[in-house]
Amino acid sequence: MRLLFLGPPGAGKGTQAVRIADRAGIPHIATGNMLREAVAAETELGLIAKDIMAAGDLVSDDLVIGLLNDRIAREDAAGGFILDGFPRNVAQAEALVQALGDDALDAAVLIVVDDDEIVRRISGRRTCPQQHVYHVDDNPPRIAGICDQDGEALIQRDDDQAEVVRNRLDVYREQTEPLVAFYEGRGLAIHRIDGVGDLASIEAAIASTLGLS
Ligand code: AMP
Repeated sequence: MRLLFLGPPGAGKGTQAVRIADRAGIPHIATGNMLREAVAAETELGLIAKDIMAAGDLVSDDLVIGLLNDRIAREDAAGGFILDGFPRNVAQAEALVQALGDDALDAAVLIVVDDDEIVRRISGRRTCPQQHVYHVDDNPPRIAGICDQDGEALIQRDDDQAEVVRNRLDVYREQTEPLVAFYEGRGLAIHRIDGVGDLASIEAAIASTLGLS
C-alpha cells in the first residue's frame, strides 16, 4: 500500500501518518523529519537546509527528490509506505511519477483544518530531539516538558514560531494545495478527513476510509 498524506502544516498529518503506518505495517516517510535529522547531524544537506527551513520556505527540489528517492529504494519500503510532506509541489509530484510510474500511489488522505485552528495547534506543538510530537493541550506528555518515550526535554521547532507559520501556510496554499487538483486529474482517490477532533477518532476515520480498521 502506497499512501500520500496531504494537508496544511499543523493539520496533524505527521501524527496520523505514524499511527496509520503502524497499523498497516509500512514505513512512515517524512521528508521534514529526514531534513531535521540532517540539520541536527550537521551534514552537508543539513547545512544547506537549515536556514531555509527556519524561514518556512521549501528546500530545493533536487535535494529533496534525491533524499526521497534514496529512502523509497530501501528494502523496508518495498511493501509500501506513507509519504508525509512529499511531494510539496507539482515538480516533486512529477519526479515521483518518474521514480515509481503513473499509478504508483493507491490513495491520498487530505486532512482538512482551518487556518485559525492551525495557528493554535502549531503554537502549542512541542517535539523531542527524536521527533516525538506533543501538544501542550491536545496531546500533552505525562510529565510537562518531557518526552514520554525517551525522557528527553521537549522544545518548540524554530519554524513553529507565529511569523514563520504564516509563511508556511502561504507556501502550502501556493505550492502544495495545487497537488489536490493534480492528483484528482490523474484519478487518484483523495479521502478528505476532518482534522478537528480527538486523535483516536480521526485515526479511526482514516483507517476506516482506507479499509484498515
Ligand atoms: P514538515 O516537517 O513537513 O512541516 O517540513 C518542515 C520543513 O522542511 C518545511 O517547511 C520545508 O522547509 C522542509 N521540507 C520538508 N519536506 C519538504 C519537501 N518535500 N520539499 C521541500 N522542502 C521540504
